[in-house]
Amino acid sequence: MEMLNLKNSESSEFRGRENTRNKPNALEQEDLLSIKKILEEQKEILRVTREARLEQIRYSSHEATKDAADMAGQEADAERLWLFMNRDGNIENRVNKALKRMEYGQYGICIECDSPIPYKRLLIDPTSELCINCKSELELTN
Ligand SMILES: [Zn+2]
Repeated sequence: MEMLNLKNSESSEFRGRENTRNKPNALEQEDLLSIKKILEEQKEILRVTREARLEQIRYSSHEATKDAADMAGQEADAERLWLFMNRDGNIENRVNKALKRMEYGQYGICIECDSPIPYKRLLIDPTSELCINCKSELELTN
């Protein structure tokens, strides 16, 4: 109960104008909330997909194998599933990091140069950590 109260007072403080003075956040509370909803939906989809894939891996490893060709096919399937899970794990990390930044009131601010990241860009990729300038600089050096 105390935790809940603490959380509420923190979020109402974050809504106050004074607190955005040091870290200018171009996003309105309303925009933040819609992006938060997208992120939470993504997280839920990733969770459901991961469970379905785990189930599939479990199922295929319990299945009786008839011959070598079947076994090779199953191994390839399992390998592909792990690859997908790995990729989804990376996306999930980004989604969780974005939600964390939101919690700390740092969401929508470029982690390199502190400029606000435009809402349109965040809608396309809600896990963006960099503004366009820093992102293209990164791509040039890589
Ligand atoms: Zn930047």
